[in-house]
Amino acid sequence: MTKSVIVVGAGLGGLSTALRLSYKGYQVTMIEKQDIPGGRLHLLKKDGFTFDVGPSFFSMSYEFKELFDSIGEPIPFELNELNPLYTVNMAGSNRVFQIYKDLDRLAEEFKGIESDFETKVRGYLKGAKEIFHDTEYKIIKRNFDNIVSYALSMATVPLKHLPKMFRTFWAELERHFESEEVKIIFSLVAFFLGATPFNTPSVYNLLNYTELQHDGYWNVKGGMYKIVEGIMGLLEKKGVKLIYNTEIMSVQHSAGKMVSVTDSNGQVYRADLFVINADAAWFRGKFLNRAKFTEEKLDKMEWTLAPFTIYLGVKGTIPGIHHHNYYLGDNFRAYADTIFRSTVAPEKPYYYVNVASKSNPDCAPEGCENLFILCPVPDLRVKPDWSDATKLVDEIIEDLGNRVNFDIKNNILTQVVYTPNEWQKMFNLYKGSGLGLAHGLNQIGALRPANKDEKLNNVYYVGASTHPGTGLPIVVIGSRLVTERIVNEH
Ligand SMILES: Cc1cc2nc3c(=O)[nH]c(=O)nc-3n(C[C@H](O)[C@H](O)[C@H](O)COP(=O)(O)OP(=O)(O)OC[C@H]3O[C@@H](n4cnc5c(N)ncnc54)[C@H](O)[C@@H]3O)c2cc1C
Repeated sequence: MTKSVIVVGAGLGGLSTALRLSYKGYQVTMIEKQDIPGGRLHLLKKDGFTFDVGPSFFSMSYEFKELFDSIGEPIPFELNELNPLYTVNMAGSNRVFQIYKDLDRLAEEFKGIESDFETKVRGYLKGAKEIFHDTEYKIIKRNFDNIVSYALSMATVPLKHLPKMFRTFWAELERHFESEEVKIIFSLVAFFLGATPFNTPSVYNLLNYTELQHDGYWNVKGGMYKIVEGIMGLLEKKGVKLIYNTEIMSVQHSAGKMVSVTDSNGQVYRADLFVINADAAWFRGKFLNRAKFTEEKLDKMEWTLAPFTIYLGVKGTIPGIHHHNYYLGDNFRAYADTIFRSTVAPEKPYYYVNVASKSNPDCAPEGCENLFILCPVPDLRVKPDWSDATKLVDEIIEDLGNRVNFDIKNNILTQVVYTPNEWQKMFNLYKGSGLGLAHGLNQIGALRPANKDEKLNNVYYVGASTHPGTGLPIVVIGSRLVTERIVNEH
């Protein structure tokens, strides 16, 4: 008999799980709080401008290929490799570094900054490559039933990597490079994991291998939302029903099984199986009253930084700005040390700017640019009040205008700002944390909220805060792992 599945949430995790399950013959219904699918992979259209609201690029593009291969369909969007990967602007030296995958070209960028860069970077990436391939199938791409199976799998990782568990990301960079510039640039990726390079374990240097050698960075022709549109076309083909603008507010369970979920309109949805794409830690506390996930316990966990995002439609073409740009100040260590703990908006903020119109002119009216600005800020546990948001917006716009030598302020045609409060409200992100639970060694593998419920044997989880973790390709891996479980067990 066909099994019915309710998926709570239509983020990338929910959509890709629905895709896999529907192609395996399950009858899937999705319930989404927002009025469109995609979750954080959201779309904003305003005054002739189109913005990708959250993610703007990704690594490990082959995980998307795997998703569509697994259902026997061609990939329904066009991948576009980024070259250079990104640009880093440093305030102190006024230097602009273009980061290329081609190591000869990259060496040119660091000429006069880091002696013998090419030999050093090759040695650094060799170690990063080894740890990536030695852990890929042992830690990331497999399910764990309990702590023991996780410990046994960890024990098969070659012992030579052990020191990397105890060293920091920054300390590993210091073993290979001398210049602050190279260390700072290669450590930026640590912020995506929810910590700073000064407290992230050195194992995550493997991310620089995935970015610089293994796969590079990619986005999608026509904008990131094409991913969602492509998946939606296939879900429609399989008769998957999506219900929008309603939120699951309670769940009903009995005898070790979830029976139904109830939405904000009082509508009750019954199914054989439930996949939760809402935050896996928050959902357990809020709706299943689990002692391990009360607000007090969640507050003690480590969460990734909250996003403060600005979407600007600007008249004119801005020179000296590329598709992906980081703007850093001249106090990296001090900034990193306080950014998680500060109860006030950052002074002299560090931020990232994505200008999709540079490679996708359809995103902006002719002669205009669309700017997406992301400034990582403390989450709502630390700074709950964002009534001072305008000050931070003004500072960033002024700083960016000065750095690119263009009067952005007086050429703004449209502007939207999301503080961590909006991010929390829009997608139920816990205290506005942008990427969900952080990835310290105590919050990964079997130590992360599991993708199968502890007590209800027909409830599964997919997405950023469950195994294996956050980021678009990782969430897609998560959809494969949870599908494997469901198919084996039901
Ligand atoms: C600003 C920003 C920039 C980012 N940039 C990148 C990037 O460049 N590259 C990258 O790889 N990753 C990036 N990420 C991370 C990436 O967006 C996430 O890891 C990924 O999208 C998470 O997908 P998900 O399915 O787990 O969750 P979500 O996208 O949050 O989906 C969960 C869905 O569940 C819905 N929901 C929640 N509760 C309920 C409920 N009770 N009832 C009904 N529906 C509910 C939400 O509305 C949401 O649509 C970024 C994130 C942010 C915030």
